[in-house]
Amino acid sequence: MTQLRDEHTDDNGNPSHRWAIIAENIIAELHVDPTTHEILWVWVSENHCGKGFAADLYRTATAEMEIFHAPEWHRTPEGNRWATTVGGPALDSCACCEHLFEFEEDDYTDTDTQDW
Ligand SMILES: [Zn+2]
Repeated sequence: MTQLRDEHTDDNGNPSHRWAIIAENIIAELHVDPTTHEILWVWVSENHCGKGFAADLYRTATAEMEIFHAPEWHRTPEGNRWATTVGGPALDSCACCEHLFEFEEDDYTDTDTQDW
C-alpha cells in the first residue's frame, strides 16, 4: 500500500488537498478545502471499511496542516460518527448557513417595519 498526496480537482473544477491510500486502486481518500481546511469528504472502499484507513489519512493530513471537521449540521450520520471517533477541531460556523441562524435571531420590531 502506498500513500498519495496531491492537489485534486473534481469534475466540476472544485479544488481540494487530497490524501489517499492505494492498494491496487485507491481504497481510502480524504479531501480538504484548500481555503478553509474543512474536510470536504472522506471515503473508504467497502472492503476496507472499519480498518482505520480514514483515521490514518486524518493523522497524515493533520501532520501537514491544521484541518477541521465540517460543522455538525453539515455532517451525515456516518460522518458525524467518524468525526466524533477521530476527534480534533471542527468548524462551528459556515458562510452558507449564516443567514439561517440570523433569521432565527431576527427581531421583528426593528426600525424598518415601523414605517408601515
Ligand atoms: Zn452551511
